[in-house]
Amino acid sequence: MSAMETQLPTLVIVGRPNVGKSTLFNRVLGEQQAIVEDRPGVTRDRKELEAEWLGVPFRVIDTGGWMPRGSDLDDKVSRQVEAAVQEADLVLFVVDASVGILEEDEAVANWLRRGDHEVIVVANKADNNQREEQLWQFLSLGLGEAIPVSALHGRRAGDLLDVVLERFGDKAVANEPTEGAWTGDVEIEAPDAPRVAIVGRPNVGKSTLFNRLVGEDRSVVHDMAGTTRDAIDTIVETEDGPIVFVDTAGMRRRSRIDDSAEYYSMVRALRAIDDADVALLVIDATEGVTGQDQRLAERVDASGCPIVVLLNKWELIDDPDHRIEIEAGVKRKLAFLGDVPVLKISALTGKNVHKLRPRLQEAITQYHRRVPTKDVNKVIADAQQQSPAGGGAKVLFAVQGATDPPTFTLFVNRELPQHHVRYLERRIREEFEFGSTPIKLRIRKKS
Ligand code: GDP
Ligand code: GDP
Repeated sequence: MSAMETQLPTLVIVGRPNVGKSTLFNRVLGEQQAIVEDRPGVTRDRKELEAEWLGVPFRVIDTGGWMPRGSDLDDKVSRQVEAAVQEADLVLFVVDASVGILEEDEAVANWLRRGDHEVIVVANKADNNQREEQLWQFLSLGLGEAIPVSALHGRRAGDLLDVVLERFGDKAVANEPTEGAWTGDVEIEAPDAPRVAIVGRPNVGKSTLFNRLVGEDRSVVHDMAGTTRDAIDTIVETEDGPIVFVDTAGMRRRSRIDDSAEYYSMVRALRAIDDADVALLVIDATEGVTGQDQRLAERVDASGCPIVVLLNKWELIDDPDHRIEIEAGVKRKLAFLGDVPVLKISALTGKNVHKLRPRLQEAITQYHRRVPTKDVNKVIADAQQQSPAGGGAKVLFAVQGATDPPTFTLFVNRELPQHHVRYLERRIREEFEFGSTPIKLRIRKKS
């Protein structure tokens, strides 16, 4: 270990089993490096890793395991905590806001009160406001006010890390920003740049692709705290202007993701797409479209975000018949997405990755596009003339009320049959060449 490393301020996470220490640990690291399962005491080993917040590096230790049952509780607790906090500059004492204080929590608190460690009480599983209102109860632990977080959902994780840095005081020293990259505590304004999320199951090649996209441009890369604070967004300056890659935290570090952590990468992905203008859905061509890919695709689609599908690791598929089979499988299993672009790439070799940029730009342009009202009404009128809704129902007036995605409001005299609504949507899509961009139709009855 280098001299530099030994000087890093150290954060130690303690608490009884099942309060969410490992989940919090992973959250702090911005990725899922430990396996978390829904039973007490799964994470037995002490985990130690280096993390960084706003450019300040620090060490995090998750104490994980718990002494075997049978011995006296206080004794058991003290031995575990004692060993763990020896190296701590700051202790995160995690309690569970969904169950309140248990005897074991009190035992940990008793021990911590006797020492002279800096302690922050963290009320985890504060998933909603109601739970936050219950926080007063933790004052009785005698260690100050509890800070609410939801490690699982990322709620307030950034706020907690802000407090951690504050409490480290002088021990927290920001890294020198390296040339061309900012990881420092300089908040930069998010420009009005398109926001792109790279989503997909673990190991499909997201990090490899990200690195290739970022590396391909001999350009400046900035990091900035994302809108959710604990996310890391990366701005890449390209020839066509800047692009923001949303929530790339998990891709900045080499990740060793296990299948059992798939769920967490889903959670990350879902947060990212809500923030994005376009989603790159990466699929491992060697595995084809799995059930989880389908669920992810459904969710991206529901968010209204345009999608570009990337069939990655394509260079591994040599057999022409196999290639045809895979493509057909993708078409069939992702049929619900409509006519989305599908690119066959190799993030590893870089093959066809250059084709991505124009598709991305196209999808983003369409997503932000606004069609003049008179043109919308002309298309609707023509469509209804060619094929009336029947029963005297018709659209009286139409307008594109919103972009991102393009959303059209149709004022009608009476309810339109579903098939007619779909017909109008198709006509709008075709006439204005929206391509694969999701569009929304709202029907309003004129009163
Ligand atoms: P540890 O034993 O203290 O390390 O706890 P884990 O991190 O293994 O978490 C125990 C359980 O609590 C797991 O099922 C987690 O998914 C769950 N959990 C962790 N954080 C949260 C949270 O913020 N909200 C909710 N609802 N559950 C959480
Ligand atoms: P992530 O978990 O989705 O970020 O996936 P990674 O980028 O970490 O990639 C997982 C594994 O797939 C790594 O071993 C990569 O080297 C490998 N990989 C990524 N892209 C390709 C590709 O295009 N071809 C091949 N053969 N391997 C790839």
